Amino acid sequence: MSGRTKNQEGLARLGQHTWAYLQPDWGFGLSNAGVVGCGGDALLVDTFFDLAHTRRLLEAVASQVGMPIRTLVNTHDNGDHCWGNQLVEGAEIIGHRLCADAMGNTAVLELLRAAQRGDLDALPAGRYLRGLAEPFDFDGIVPTPPSTVMEDTLTRDVGGVEVEARYVGPAHTAGDVIVTVPADGVVYAGDVIFRLCHPLEWQGTYANLIEAMRLIESLDVEHVVSGHGPLAGKEAATEMREYFEWLIGEARERWEAGISVIDAARAIDPGPYADWAEPERMVFGVDRAYREFEGKAWDAPFDAITLFDAMAAMAEGGESGAVVPDGSAAPGQS
Ligand SMILES: [Zn+2]
Repeated sequence: MSGRTKNQEGLARLGQHTWAYLQPDWGFGLSNAGVVGCGGDALLVDTFFDLAHTRRLLEAVASQVGMPIRTLVNTHDNGDHCWGNQLVEGAEIIGHRLCADAMGNTAVLELLRAAQRGDLDALPAGRYLRGLAEPFDFDGIVPTPPSTVMEDTLTRDVGGVEVEARYVGPAHTAGDVIVTVPADGVVYAGDVIFRLCHPLEWQGTYANLIEAMRLIESLDVEHVVSGHGPLAGKEAATEMREYFEWLIGEARERWEAGISVIDAARAIDPGPYADWAEPERMVFGVDRAYREFEGKAWDAPFDAITLFDAMAAMAEGGESGAVVPDGSAAPGQS
């Protein structure tokens, strides 16, 4: 297997005023957060997938940064970046307008709760989601959308340190923002970058994802904190852009040959990405590419349950099985 090692969970210092909170693996639900702290004032980038994981994050910020969080920026509306928002009491919550709109929709939360109860076990997708959800507890979560809605850019002063949020969507979701701290050369990228893990894309376009990667590649930054995965420099954006270009090319060949999404995803040799986690996510990636080849809109509805069924089959299929960083095949454990 590869030389990948797990992240050490906890806060990692990036610059004088910046930290990343890393979770140990980098697949489903285990995201990274960011902290900017200066002059008795802290800003948090994202919360986590449930209340228990978010409490660990907030306890680390309280004990190691020691400044109250007055501002929270959500990079997007996926639950692993915002389902702990309610615990950041009293903070201004900032997000893109489309992120705020989407956060009010509790369908995914209800779906995961149903999967966790076993209500969906008759479906391969249900069993797959139950496995993915196993490390989390979705009780008590009250989706808490942004109180301040942004459009293209928004800047905040955190104890004298400038923090800028920029809209780059629709890319991974409708409302993606990246957060930069120029003084420390840091960008918190959210899920426009998954590092050493196949990405799972929802609403958006590959063109916008690639443009977001080119933007990050052009920034004067040293530290790129991806939504999932280990810390990196700007090579994280280059790697991700090259992945998108590779997957689009692989998908196009098969689309032109009339091969189905699922057969295409199964047939693609992950090649340079053989040691990236959760290869079954290529089902989602190929489906998005096919929708784009067909000229469908970035927010055209798609059948996520059918795609999760196909991912479940691929994850259970031996050599295509989900790979966790310790090298064992374990669908749903990344
Ligand atoms: Zn995420």
